[in-house]
Amino acid sequence: MPGEPQDDCLFCKIAAGQIPATIVRETQTTVAFRDINPQAPTHVLVIPKAHYANAAELATAAPELAADVLRETQAVADEDKLDSYRIVFNTGAGVGQTVFHAHAHVLGGRGLTWPPG
Ligand code: AMP
Ligand code: ZN
Repeated sequence: MPGEPQDDCLFCKIAAGQIPATIVRETQTTVAFRDINPQAPTHVLVIPKAHYANAAELATAAPELAADVLRETQAVADEDKLDSYRIVFNTGAGVGQTVFHAHAHVLGGRGLTWPPG
């Protein structure tokens, strides 16, 4: 069921505190933590605590929760004093999605090329 915790999901376990992470911010509905393999000086993942496979599934099933995730990306940027940052939602294995629990990458603190690779 969309929204229900999945036994085999890494980010459900981080949301539940069963696996440690460097948590930057937490709200009633979201957790933000530093990526274990950072691609920029700031590389934080913002996840909904509830399980949805990707951004579109999240936005369709729980639009207010999707807005919570987006709002938190700005809060993370404020915390790291970033004027500019990039939000990435990889969707599908073909573009590198490896964890199928919706997450926003918040990237910043260095120049980022456009278009992205
Ligand atoms: P994606 O490739 O878009 O699915 O992003 C998954 C991200 O999760 C990757 O950038 C990984 O480096 C990151 N990641 C995997 N395991 C952990 C972990 N235990 N703690 C923090 N970040 C992780
Ligand atoms: Zn999950």
